[in-house]
Amino acid sequence: MNLILFGPPAAGKGTQAKRLVTERGMVQLSTGDMLRAAIASGSELGQQVKGVLDRGDLVTDDIVVALIEDRLPEAEAAGGAIFDGFPRTVAQAQALDAMLAKRGGKIDAVLRLKVDEPALIERIAKRFAEQGRPDDNPEVFVTRLGAYNAQTAPLLPYYQAQGKLTELDGMGSVEAVAAAIDGALSSVN
Ligand code: AMP
Repeated sequence: MNLILFGPPAAGKGTQAKRLVTERGMVQLSTGDMLRAAIASGSELGQQVKGVLDRGDLVTDDIVVALIEDRLPEAEAAGGAIFDGFPRTVAQAQALDAMLAKRGGKIDAVLRLKVDEPALIERIAKRFAEQGRPDDNPEVFVTRLGAYNAQTAPLLPYYQAQGKLTELDGMGSVEAVAAAIDGALSSVN
């Protein structure tokens, strides 16, 4: 099963993806984690994208599409991928559909975690205080939220039209959101 966890930054996608990895053996494909790893390693790619992440803008589609393509065989072998933070543009979603189709696969479900903006801002302030991730600082977070609203939210009708979108309340506890996800997945074969 290939699943997209969809939602704005700080919606809880990473937390829920990690639980699904532990419980279901699926592979989490987080382009944000991959880009941060590239930056930490000092690779050419890392140097190329660091400024973009620091500003809170999106990196170009070709970069993230290539990162995902590299990891698809591994996810396939594990029985499925949880896409976390990808796709973030309609072009990325189209590229993902094409890459999966080429391998005889598809997206089975898109689960949208709905969290209102004041709650996101509160969560991110807490995460910034705890972890100090540079792009969680309040000014950059506004840019990230803007990118979500302008470039990523238009994916909702894309997946709605494919009949794959399920909307879930992401405001509750980690356990409550996990239960909602499990409920939604029980009807996906
Ligand atoms: P995240 O950890 O998913 O919030 O991603 C952190 C940052 O990495 C984002 O603010 C973007 O700069 C970049 N990024 C991650 N995933 C993507 C993507 N699918 N497309 C473009 N940029 C991305």
